[in-house]
Amino acid sequence: MKKIRQPIIAVLGHVDHGKTTLLDRIRNTNVASKEAGGITQHIGATEVPIDTIKQLAGPLIQLWKGEIRLPGLLFIDTPGHEAFTSLRARGGSLADLAVLIVDINEGFQPQTIESIEILRRNRTPFIVAANKIDRIKGWKVEEDEPFLVNIKKQDQRAQQELETKLWELIGKFYEMGFQANRFDRVQDFTRELAIVPISAKYGIGVPELLVLIAGLSQKYLEEKLKIEVEGPARGTILEVREELGLGTTIDVIIYDGTLHKDDTIVVGGKDKAIVTKIRALLKPKPLDEIRDPRFRFDQVDEVAAAAGIKIAAPGLEEALAGSPVIAARSEEEVEKARQEILSQIQSVVISTGKVGVIVKADTLGSLEALSKELNEKGIPIRKADVGNISKTDVMEALSVREEEEKYGVVLGFNVRVNEDAEEVAKARSIPIFTGNIIYKLIEDYEEWIRAEEE
Ligand code: GDP
Ligand code: MG
Repeated sequence: MKKIRQPIIAVLGHVDHGKTTLLDRIRNTNVASKEAGGITQHIGATEVPIDTIKQLAGPLIQLWKGEIRLPGLLFIDTPGHEAFTSLRARGGSLADLAVLIVDINEGFQPQTIESIEILRRNRTPFIVAANKIDRIKGWKVEEDEPFLVNIKKQDQRAQQELETKLWELIGKFYEMGFQANRFDRVQDFTRELAIVPISAKYGIGVPELLVLIAGLSQKYLEEKLKIEVEGPARGTILEVREELGLGTTIDVIIYDGTLHKDDTIVVGGKDKAIVTKIRALLKPKPLDEIRDPRFRFDQVDEVAAAAGIKIAAPGLEEALAGSPVIAARSEEEVEKARQEILSQIQSVVISTGKVGVIVKADTLGSLEALSKELNEKGIPIRKADVGNISKTDVMEALSVREEEEKYGVVLGFNVRVNEDAEEVAKARSIPIFTGNIIYKLIEDYEEWIRAEEE
């Protein structure tokens, strides 16, 4: 049986631009949500049912002619920008749609640009939330008010200042090849980026943001969101976590099928596929029912996409964030899943033996993103692997240097440098570049090449 699942929505943007505040605000939007069924907390995600959105939206829902058939929206509680780079799924990004949040007073910052690059590379549709409008001088705050109502209460100067700042943003998007406009001035949502001015802190504009997300998902993603609900589950690991009394568990976003408590799962590890039997499927208990922190979870028998769930199973110590989880119900399915995961790992974790740079990253997704970027720049790769920078990596760069000086380097995304690696690198003058913004990391490296060549 086919059903339309909730679209998976990621919120991303530069640090301190308001991702957490927006998600908190959405979670606490309890206006009307009591009758409407309320907001459900998942592991690693928050679900807003469609009735809540309809109530919040009021007359705004007429922006969308025709019925909304989505059951709701599933917001991933993305733990920061670096983690977003690892949110991959079969065929691209785990997020069906993204909200790019930009502090309107600060404009584009490095992680804003990086986020746009990643969204573009994965062809993920997105909406822009221009945040912190309440900071505009003289702004009159009305909590949870739609932007289009709130704007009418502002004096001429504040309105003008908002316009100026919006035009600055629109200009920046134009430089990056995007046509953008304030959402109520957008003519064609397939060609123009919609910008919703909001205050995440006070909830202004959040109704429109939610309505737009729902409307756009309904209109442009419905086909993609139709899933065979009874099929074996597929998901992506958000986090690998040690839990009191449960051992190592994985927090997973399920984007396809249904996961049963007696399923076998195949999980991506650093360099292998882990086959294991589920011990328990766990969801968070409602906050007011937690009396003992050891019993923070309820067990469930099954969970259908889209959902966030914690999985307890033996052998998960080597599971890797950003890697796939595939459920299997027969020997054949286990083998197929194993092959699929291995080939995914092998397409990213490579050892070419070429004269090229050594690349390290924290997850499969970020390694893939960094490698792709290097490929596009024509920079050859000798080795791409997940994990901290080790002495072996430096030794390998050293041998590359014998052949071609400029490639005798190590590039690391969101990883640490082991102490012995650091020592050798210092002693033998092997440059190590690390950081958590891909394009900056590559820029630093290219700058070094230029300096060397002079
Ligand atoms: P994140 O790093 O993107 O998750 O940003 P946070 O949500 O942690 O926000 C960073 C800071 O900006 C916090 O002090 C927030 O209270 C503040 N902030 C976020 N949104 C707003 C807003 O709409 N208005 C104002 N005035 N402050 C905000
Ligand atoms: Mg945050």
